[in-house]
Amino acid sequence: MAFKRIVVKVGTSTIAHTTGLPNIRHMENLVKVLSDIKNTGRDIVLVTSGAIGMGAGKMGYQTLPQSLADRQACASVGQCALMKIYDNLFSEYNHMVSQILLTQNVMDGGEHQTNTVNTFNALLYKNVLPIVNANDTISTKEIEFGDNDTLSATVSTLIDADILVIMTDLDGMYNCNPKNNENAKLIDYINTIDDELKEAAKGEKSALGTGGMVTKLNAAAIAAEKNIPTFIMNGAYPERVYGIFDGELKGTFIDLGKRFYNLKIG
Ligand code: GLU
Repeated sequence: MAFKRIVVKVGTSTIAHTTGLPNIRHMENLVKVLSDIKNTGRDIVLVTSGAIGMGAGKMGYQTLPQSLADRQACASVGQCALMKIYDNLFSEYNHMVSQILLTQNVMDGGEHQTNTVNTFNALLYKNVLPIVNANDTISTKEIEFGDNDTLSATVSTLIDADILVIMTDLDGMYNCNPKNNENAKLIDYINTIDDELKEAAKGEKSALGTGGMVTKLNAAAIAAEKNIPTFIMNGAYPERVYGIFDGELKGTFIDLGKRFYNLKIG
């Protein structure tokens, strides 16, 4: 089966409104599509942000608090809220989920790494759908740099994923910021990351999310070291993920290993 093991990353901009409260429509659509893809016999791992945004919404903040400790507190509140929603929605489709909170030092090449890989494998073997976030209580790197994108690439390499799908609030990567340039063009296929592309990636970040395209390109480069291609797609339309399997793509396909020229991009 093509692309058997898939890591999907969603950002805060997809699963929460700018109020920080859950975007129920997006979450329901996402869970429906991922459940359906899982039903084809594929392994899915979901890497999700949104804990801080949702915690902030729940705790009544109008904007994200400034201090790191307050953001960590938001993450601690929001993570429960997030998992409660995912657990409820995935149960509707008879899928069992688990929570995995990671830090980058899991890639220590030693005991931590082995333990993590063993847990993922045991869960996937039992058909569980692991849901991953950064452990924001003990690691603040992801909070400061918006790096669940990197985390998703790390997870992909840890579990030998076949593809990494990064969902965002745009259709993919553009040659300039589409939010303030109506002539911006979607870049549908990337096989080299050059200076021009890095410059184009420095666009605007969303209100509650902390990433941006730079971290997505970095993630794609990490995944590519293990020959894993990356797709950047619009989280508002998760059904576009089906296009990856049907060979009809709407998004940005980052194929640094140049392994999949033949996938049709539309
Ligand atoms: N772990 C953070 C959260 O759940 C997200 C970090 C990021 O912006 O990707 O809110």
